[in-house]
Amino acid sequence: MMEFDTIAAISTPAGEGAIAIVRLSGSDAVTIGDQVFQGKTTLAQADTHTINYGHLIEPETSDVVEEVMVSVLRAPKTFTKEDIIEINCHGGVVSVNKVLDLVLSSGARLADPGEFTKRAFLNGRIDLSQAEGVMDLIRAKTDRAMNVAVSQVQGRLAEQVRGLRQELLETVANVEVNIDYPEYDADTVTLELLKEKGGAVKDEIDQLLRTAKQGKILREGIATAIIGRPNVGKSSLMNSFVHENKAIVTEIPGTTRDVLEEYVNVRGVPLRLIDTAGIRETEDVVEKIGVERSRQVLQDADLVMLVLNAAEPLGDEDRALFEAMKGMNAVIVLNKTDLSQQIDENEVRELAGSRPVIATSLLQSEGVEELEDAIAHLFFDEGVETGDLTYVSNARHIAQLRQARQSIEDALEAADADIPVDMVQIDITRAWEHLGEIVGENAPDHLIDQLFSQFCLGK
Ligand code: GDP
Ligand code: ZN
Repeated sequence: MMEFDTIAAISTPAGEGAIAIVRLSGSDAVTIGDQVFQGKTTLAQADTHTINYGHLIEPETSDVVEEVMVSVLRAPKTFTKEDIIEINCHGGVVSVNKVLDLVLSSGARLADPGEFTKRAFLNGRIDLSQAEGVMDLIRAKTDRAMNVAVSQVQGRLAEQVRGLRQELLETVANVEVNIDYPEYDADTVTLELLKEKGGAVKDEIDQLLRTAKQGKILREGIATAIIGRPNVGKSSLMNSFVHENKAIVTEIPGTTRDVLEEYVNVRGVPLRLIDTAGIRETEDVVEKIGVERSRQVLQDADLVMLVLNAAEPLGDEDRALFEAMKGMNAVIVLNKTDLSQQIDENEVRELAGSRPVIATSLLQSEGVEELEDAIAHLFFDEGVETGDLTYVSNARHIAQLRQARQSIEDALEAADADIPVDMVQIDITRAWEHLGEIVGENAPDHLIDQLFSQFCLGK
C-alpha cells in the first residue's frame, strides 16, 4: 500500500441536515481524532468498526465544541484501505465547519475533490471504472441511472472487460509459442485461433457499444425540446411533467445567463427539458420568435415533443415544424381534445409517419399516462431491464472500446491477408491495452488526476 498523509473533508451534502459527517482518512486519522475527542475511552483504544460517543474539545482551551459520535474504521477493511474516522456531528453549516477546522488545525489536510475515491483506486480497493461509477452515482438523476452506476461500482463492466482482455492475452500467448518453436509449423492453426477469438471479442465489444446510447441517456438525460405554436399548451405540458415527476432543477453557473435545466423522470427515463426559458417567456415574445427559435432548439434535442392544438385546423406553421424536425425522435401531442375537434387527424398521422401521436387534454390531465408510455417505449424496448445488462455510459469507456474494436478489426484483416502472425499480434496487443485503460490498468497519471478532480469534495 502507498503512503499518504491524512486528509479530511465534509462528506455529507452542503447545507442543513440533521447530521453531518466529517471524514478523515490516512495513517494519522485516529491520532488526530484523539487530539480533539473526549469520550469514555480514546479512539486508539476503540475496536475497529465501532461508533464512539463523546465530545469534541478545543485542545488549547479544553472548551467543548460539539457532541459527537465517532466511527473508527481501521485499515485495510475501509473504503480507502486506510484508517478512517468519521465524525458524526450536528448538521448545521456552522457546526460542521467548526469540526472540520478543528481537525485541520490538528494535522489533517483538506482533501482535494475526489481524493478519497482516488485513494481507494490507488490502494487497489476499486478499479477506474468503479471509481467513475462512484462519480456517476453522485450525479445520478433517476433510479435507472443509479442502477447503472451501482452496477459499475460493483465492477460489472470491469469484470466483463477483464474477461475480454484474458481472451486476447491467451491469443497472444499462443502466438508467442508459435514464434518460439518455428519448427512446429502451426502458423495456420494460430491464425485460425486468432480469427476465432478475435471475432468473438469484437462481437462482445459491439454488444457493449450498442448499450452506449442508452447508457448516455441514463447518464446525461435526454435533451428534450417542447415545440409548437403559441397557445397550444407547451407550458401546460411542461408543468404537468414537472409537477408530477419531481423535477430536479439544476443551475449551471458560468454561462452568460445562468441556464436553468429541468430534469423530469418519466418511467425511469430522465428527460432534460431544454429551453425552458423560451417556454416560460411571455406569450407575445414567444409569438415573435416562433418557428425560428424552434429550429435552434431542435439542433440540441434528442427528443422533440411537438404540441398541436386539436381545436384548430392544422396551420402552415405546424407543417413547418413537422418539416423542421424531420428524421428526429419525436412524439406528437394532440392537445385540447376536450374542445370540439377541428384538426384533420389523418393529416397529422401522415405527417407524423411512424412517430406516435398522443391525444391529450392537459387542462383535464388526460392522456399524460399514454404520453409517458410512448416516451418510455421510444428509449427502452420492452423487457430490457437495466438489471441484466452491462451498460456503457461513460464517454471515455466508449472511446476506448471503439479503439479496441478497431485494433481487433485491423488484426483480423491482417490475418486474412496472410501477414506474418507476429505482426498481427501487435494489433491484438494494442486492443488489449485499450481495454486496459477502461479499468485503469495502464492509465497515465494525468488521466487519473483529471478524472478524480471531477468528483465532489468529500467523496
Ligand atoms: P403555450 O403557449 O404553448 O405554452 O400554451 P399554454 O400552456 O400557456 O396554454 C395556453 C392556453 O391553453 C392556456 O390558457 C391553457 O390553460 C390552455 N390549455 C392548455 N391545455 C389545454 C387543454 O387541453 N384544453 C383546453 N381547453 N385548454 C388548454
Ligand atoms: Zn407558454
